[in-house]
Amino acid sequence: MKSSALNSSGNAFPAPLIACDHLSCTYGNGTVIEGVDLSVHPGEFVGIVGPSGSGKTTLLKAMLGSIKASHGSVTRASGLSVAYVPQLETVDWNFPVTVGEVVGMSRPQKSWWPGSSSSERQAIEEVLERLGLGGLVQRHIRELSGGQQQRVFLARALIQKPDVLILDEPTAGIDVTTRHEILHVLADLNEGPPQGDGIAIVLTTHDLNGLAAHLPRLVCFNRTVIADGTPSEVLQPYFLERTFGAPMEVLQHGGMPIVLEQGSDELRLRLSRKGAS
Ligand code: ADP
Ligand code: MG
Repeated sequence: MKSSALNSSGNAFPAPLIACDHLSCTYGNGTVIEGVDLSVHPGEFVGIVGPSGSGKTTLLKAMLGSIKASHGSVTRASGLSVAYVPQLETVDWNFPVTVGEVVGMSRPQKSWWPGSSSSERQAIEEVLERLGLGGLVQRHIRELSGGQQQRVFLARALIQKPDVLILDEPTAGIDVTTRHEILHVLADLNEGPPQGDGIAIVLTTHDLNGLAAHLPRLVCFNRTVIADGTPSEVLQPYFLERTFGAPMEVLQHGGMPIVLEQGSDELRLRLSRKGAS
């Protein structure tokens, strides 16, 4: 299933950055993910898709080390820096902080804007500038648009200079233009030097056609890994039905898989008129 470039046994990379080995996680007495084998290698960009409640956030937190394995293990390469961008819905927006404070709080020195040193302030300003948030450093995070808020948390992660960036549903609840901007930034971060930073990226998404289908590697997930490979390999009716518990049809359009969920008859009709096979 996995292409050789992605397969840990294919020797394409010397060692995984993060390796989940028969990983299970439990809340109270309920096991929510089970027997997960999944590795992230240098330079990879991995999307994880699955329905609500399938354990995606739990898997990310286990990779990050904030949730313990109940069985199996998660191994991170020694000295690895992993940064996490939470799902916006889980953020407490009543917490009174400015953009600069959100970004600065993640620094190892726990420096707070504006009490931080000038070099720290400069680092914060640079990362905000890079993400198109220049001039917003004193703004309260509540006053920003959804896309700006998403970028503030991305800035907060980037200032840690991570080797791996883990994002939970980074495009949920934002408009198409902002989604493009965020994906553009992520592609730049993922691209190797000299243009990019070569950061490995792992994200979850509900967006099969707008995001998942464009990634180099995709994992269908529901309690465990159901399929792992390129979008063409994993976006197939058999895997999708096992993942989402509902029949889905897949069309090929311009060499890309397009997933039709139930009730997508109108889209199918329109695409077939345009000559999709
Ligand atoms: P997803 O991100 O795919 O929506 P989650 O990892 O958030 O899935 O949740 C997986 C399952 O674990 C769900 O049934 C959810 O209700 C449960 N769950 C998540 N967090 C907790 C928690 N802190 N305590 C108890 N159950 C939880
Ligand atoms: Mg989640």
